[in-house]
Amino acid sequence: MVRNHLSSLCGNGFSDQHAKNMRTNQQQLTTMKRRSFLKKAAGSTLFLSSGSFPLEVLAAPETMKLTILHTNDVHSRIEPFPMDGSDYAGMGGAAKRAGLIKKIRATEKNVLLFDCGDIFQGTPYFNKFGGELEFKLMSKMGYDASTLGNHDFDAGLDGLNKQLPHTNFPFLVSNYDFSDTPVAGKIEDYRVFEKEGFRIGVFGLGIELEGLVPPVLFGETRHLDPIKQANKTAAILRGEEGCDYVICLSHLGYTYKNGKICDITLAKQTNNIDLILGGHTHTFMEQPDQVANKSGKMVLINQAGWAGLLLGRLDVFFEHNRKSKCITCKNQVIN
Ligand SMILES: [Zn+2]
Repeated sequence: MVRNHLSSLCGNGFSDQHAKNMRTNQQQLTTMKRRSFLKKAAGSTLFLSSGSFPLEVLAAPETMKLTILHTNDVHSRIEPFPMDGSDYAGMGGAAKRAGLIKKIRATEKNVLLFDCGDIFQGTPYFNKFGGELEFKLMSKMGYDASTLGNHDFDAGLDGLNKQLPHTNFPFLVSNYDFSDTPVAGKIEDYRVFEKEGFRIGVFGLGIELEGLVPPVLFGETRHLDPIKQANKTAAILRGEEGCDYVICLSHLGYTYKNGKICDITLAKQTNNIDLILGGHTHTFMEQPDQVANKSGKMVLINQAGWAGLLLGRLDVFFEHNRKSKCITCKNQVIN
């Protein structure tokens, strides 16, 4: 039953292959639970276990630890999955997620919390309240920014516009032109967050809506080339805005067999992005992947499954020269 429900969540155009991917995702999650998220060394100097980070670096001046938390494709999962013996029984839910975020904020000084879209659609809460509850809960949890997913158009642009006053965080999408729509001027290209003098630039990218969302729902929204917009926006953040670190909130999807634009292509064809937080493909990851960008510099890509079952987490250490960053990554199960 849950599986049927999962398939129905995926919107138009999802195939048996997608259902197969979902099953793989379920297996991945089970494996992750079994391992209790024991750190894999990953054979890279970028990944350090939290116990091995040298204390003298932490104590040095002009060093900052930033904790980046993120979710994607929560799909109106306000409550945990029902206790019906299915794969995710009892897992997820807004209360547990809020509790985990609160606990992390109590121990970490600098925290940023993001969502990568598809907040809406999937339970009767959305059908009944049109997204009001999702936005109110995210605001209470202290989300710093979100991008928009294709399902966030499911109540139409008027529906989205109606719910925006229930948020206290910005929506960031640099490749949708909303100028002839009811949300014109309400969605931003990017934001810069300051933590202890370090500047973190964050921008968003949305998926092509044509073929995924009925045109009547996205109206006059114009989709712009995500690679072009990403290069443009990331260059502004790195240049004019003087950002030390650039994060892209993407709803493009992790990867596709048919060559459709995805987070991996995005990483390979751009400059100036340090981290891509993704969504749409419901990909469960224990830790980020690393992909070389256009100039050969490593970009991290992370995604946190779907339905609020995982909280993505990256701890970034900014060192005094602001060039090298060591990262500890441990996505956490919300259980
Ligand atoms: Zn999506």
